[in-house]
Amino acid sequence: MPRRKRRRWVFLDPPEIKPSEIEVSLDELEALRLADIEGLNQSDAARIMGVSQPTFHRILRSARRKAGIALVGGFRVKITGGEHIMRKFRCFDCGTEWEEPFGTGRPDTCPKCSSPNFCRVDAGKGRGKGGKGGGMGKGSGGRW
Ligand SMILES: [Zn+2]
Repeated sequence: MPRRKRRRWVFLDPPEIKPSEIEVSLDELEALRLADIEGLNQSDAARIMGVSQPTFHRILRSARRKAGIALVGGFRVKITGGEHIMRKFRCFDCGTEWEEPFGTGRPDTCPKCSSPNFCRVDAGKGRGKGGKGGGMGKGSGGRW
C-alpha cells in the first residue's frame, strides 16, 4: 500500500543567492566532514583533529550553524584558514614526520634529509573506521 504523503508546513521561500559571504574556517569544515559526511562519532573525530571532545563539539556546532545560515540565507561561503591548523608530512627516504601550519604552502624538501620525496599524511585521510566502508569512499578525499 503506497504511503500517503503528509503535507509539510514550510515558512520560508527559496533564498536568493546573495553576494555577501559567510566565513567558515577550515577546522569547521573538517568537523562537518568528519561528523556529517564520514559519520564519525564526536570522540573519534575529536581525536583525529587533535582536540578535546568538548572543543570538537563547539567547532561542529559553529560549523553546522554557519552551514545552515549559508544554505537558508543564500550566502556564499568563504573558507578561511588559520595558523592553528596543522598539516602533517612524512618523508619516504628518511621516515621523518613533521608538521607545517596551514597556509604556508607545500614544503619543497624534507627538513631533515632535504629529499623531495615526501607526502602528506594527515590523520583521518583515507583511514576510515573499518566497518561499513565509509559512504564517501576514496577519490572524494581531494575535494574535502
Ligand atoms: Zn627525509
